[in-house]
Amino acid sequence: ISLANQIAAGEVIERPASVVKELVENCLDAGASQISVDIEQGGRRRIRVRDNGGGIVKEELGLALSRHATSKIASLSDLEAIQSLGFRGEALASISSVSRLTLTSKTATQEQAWQAWVEGRDMQAELAPASHPEGTTVDAQDLFFNTPARRKFLRTDKTEFAHIDEVLRRIALARFGVRFSLTHNDKIVRQYNAVQEPEHAIKRVAQVCGSSFTDTALGLDEQTGPVRLWGWIAPAHACRHQADVQYFYVNGRMMRDRLLGHAVRQAYGDTLNDERTPSFVLYLELPAEDVDVNVHPAKHEVRFHQARQIHDFVLHCARQALSSARA
Ligand code: ADP
Ligand code: MG
Repeated sequence: ISLANQIAAGEVIERPASVVKELVENCLDAGASQISVDIEQGGRRRIRVRDNGGGIVKEELGLALSRHATSKIASLSDLEAIQSLGFRGEALASISSVSRLTLTSKTATQEQAWQAWVEGRDMQAELAPASHPEGTTVDAQDLFFNTPARRKFLRTDKTEFAHIDEVLRRIALARFGVRFSLTHNDKIVRQYNAVQEPEHAIKRVAQVCGSSFTDTALGLDEQTGPVRLWGWIAPAHACRHQADVQYFYVNGRMMRDRLLGHAVRQAYGDTLNDERTPSFVLYLELPAEDVDVNVHPAKHEVRFHQARQIHDFVLHCARQALSSARA
């Protein structure tokens, strides 16, 4: 049991930022409109994620932590099998196997909130009544306390927090309607207000990417058949050396895809010299059956069934937006 969880943990939970990603994605799955992320000491001391989503009923609290506990994997020689399983339903179990984890939740139908507590390999979750508004809090403390090798790989608090910050940016750019807050050692670092109207999405982009990007960025929105590309791209003169504003979403998921990156880069042509790198926040929407995103949970790659057409569409749209600025 714990072997399977620890192997899975090694794959999914690389650093504090991976924990934040998994936990925040769970909040979104639960329909939360407000998510708070509280970090202490770069996440090594504490990662606490609170939401106002649907919550978990008492009977399922223990289950949520120990899902796949009856794994088929009995020994290391079955590693192949665990890879083919993917990691669905394993995030909480994985995190709880490498931290001291408390899960507190209340659903709309329950009078009382409940808390489950689990520490490291000991997967026996203990349940106790608790005080908590509707929604869920996951509090993961002392990450990797029982896996010194992994703990050793952690960088400085500042670096680990920067990774967490980046994870939250990526998610915030995908969910305009959700309010996010991020604190580090009790200091508020980010507050992304919810944006309800699509035409105000640029306010979120400004909060996440800075007004230096949105002040100059060119808007684009093009559709061909069922494929749509929209978002913002900075003109060459406004691009900087840092690749800090490069966000490409495919059907709502952030991707770092070479094909898409190449298309955008090519759209700039020789207007970008070596000192500058493209800046963009772009959303590609296409039918789910035309794309395969389940390549690897940690990589952000995507496979398009019609890669050439997608590349050329992105190139065309981006080039058009950029040339309209020059005209
Ligand atoms: P997965 O998300 O792949 O189902 P996880 O291990 O991340 O697996 O979560 C296990 C289960 O715990 C989820 O399927 C969900 O039922 C429940 N859960 C986890 N986090 C939350 C949350 N913030 N709000 C409501 N339910 C949650
Ligand atoms: Mg999950």
